[in-house]
Amino acid sequence: MTIYDTYEPVIGLEIHLQLATQSKAFCADNASFGGDPNTHVSAISLGHPGTLPRLNKKQVEYAVRLGLALGSKINLRNCFDRKNYFYTDLPKGYQITQDKLPVCIGGSMELQMDGYHRTVRIHHIHMEEDAGKSIHDLDPRNSLIDLNRAGVPLLEIVSEPDLRSGEEVDAFMTAMRQLARYLGISDGNMQEGSMRCDVNVSVRKKGDTAFGERCEIKNVNSMKFARQAIEFEVKRQVDLLESGGEVTRETLNFNPTTGVTTPMRDKESAHDYRYFPDPDLPPVVLAQQWVDEVQAQLPPLPKELFEKFITEFELPEYDATLLTAEKETALFFLDLTQKTPHYKAASNLIINKINPWLSETSAALEDFPVSFEHLAGFIQLIEDGQVSASMAYQRLFGEMVEKPTAPPLELAKSLNLIQTSDTDFLEKIVDEVLAANPDKVAEYRKGKKGLIGFFMGEVMRASKGKAEPKTTNALIAKKLA
Ligand code: ADP
Ligand code: MG
Repeated sequence: MTIYDTYEPVIGLEIHLQLATQSKAFCADNASFGGDPNTHVSAISLGHPGTLPRLNKKQVEYAVRLGLALGSKINLRNCFDRKNYFYTDLPKGYQITQDKLPVCIGGSMELQMDGYHRTVRIHHIHMEEDAGKSIHDLDPRNSLIDLNRAGVPLLEIVSEPDLRSGEEVDAFMTAMRQLARYLGISDGNMQEGSMRCDVNVSVRKKGDTAFGERCEIKNVNSMKFARQAIEFEVKRQVDLLESGGEVTRETLNFNPTTGVTTPMRDKESAHDYRYFPDPDLPPVVLAQQWVDEVQAQLPPLPKELFEKFITEFELPEYDATLLTAEKETALFFLDLTQKTPHYKAASNLIINKINPWLSETSAALEDFPVSFEHLAGFIQLIEDGQVSASMAYQRLFGEMVEKPTAPPLELAKSLNLIQTSDTDFLEKIVDEVLAANPDKVAEYRKGKKGLIGFFMGEVMRASKGKAEPKTTNALIAKKLA
């Protein structure tokens, strides 16, 4: 045990989620990622005087969707505020955000960790707009500004300090990304910056109830960096406390190249934003009836499907986790269960065959060529013992993808994969196998009954996978008796 094991990290996140709306938060500019620099702009996102913002209804709907999915209370009356600061990628000189009255309050997310459960409470969710992008590494002399992102709608999800390790942070971010994708509100793509977070870290002696002083690591844009930054920061704070020092409240940058956190320049972290209600935007007033409609239209959520897959379809947790990772996969599995009662076999087929095929061919599930009927037929051929599982996986699946309209039975016949329980055919092979292995036959007869597996394998090989296992097994046992 080291000194570090006597401390416990305490972590709270502020997650920024870019919303997948078509237009920006307060004007009609294109909100999609990319585009030539400064082409998704207008007088409003450029902050010209005399322009007025107008709220995008989709942004509110997406915020409410997420709030409802997390069990938050929806504030039927919420307000926008101005957060004032100067930066070159913020031409207006202020960011429109929600300070005093955010759209969602409270809620929680359940995390299933390895061997224990963690509930992460949500403090609140508020709506805001993104800033533009300053690019410092393209031109040796100048910083370049791209304002395409200025005004793109964001949700900021603020958690309570309920996380206790880098693994839990990873699980929380993963679950939030999964939920956002299920809800269709964001792709949660961290490489493109659709999801990023500020990580608040403090440490305390194990068993203590009071929190220690915290530092905030700004703008972490990958799960790996989040874990590295937390690891570094926890060690730094423990070292500081152990050497008799104190942690001071600071805003930090994490440098992925060096793996080190460093304080931001004072000017960047001076928090004097002078929030005040935005006079250009009236309060957002929502009808309970509208919120009820949004609730009624929520898609099935990952945790509901996970439960359903385990209880109704009796799948192992491992399968349920993989099948619910993406909504498309979960719905595909549900569709397949409409056509076959062999749920575990259907799960195996998706996890072991269809998913790998999709990644190999870089195809989307919606483009998978084989119908649910034919996939169910494929499973049935195995269940009925007409085609061996290994032959079905090794050869029939590929043929079905090549010729998706042909019935699986027909394809199995044309590939000569149909197993046979024809005793004349089997007896001949069994006799040959036994004759070729007199030593093993003698050992078996002396009591080494496990050798039946060896004989089965040999017969399978000689019959090119066509020997029906039950009949074959009985036949070998009879011959060896
Ligand atoms: P501020 O308004 O100054 O940003 P908040 O109280 O809103 O501060 O907290 C911001 C984030 O910091 C939240 O995610 C919260 O969970 C987290 N946090 C608060 N106290 C601590 C602490 N002692 N250790 C770690 N994280 C903390
Ligand atoms: Mg904050």
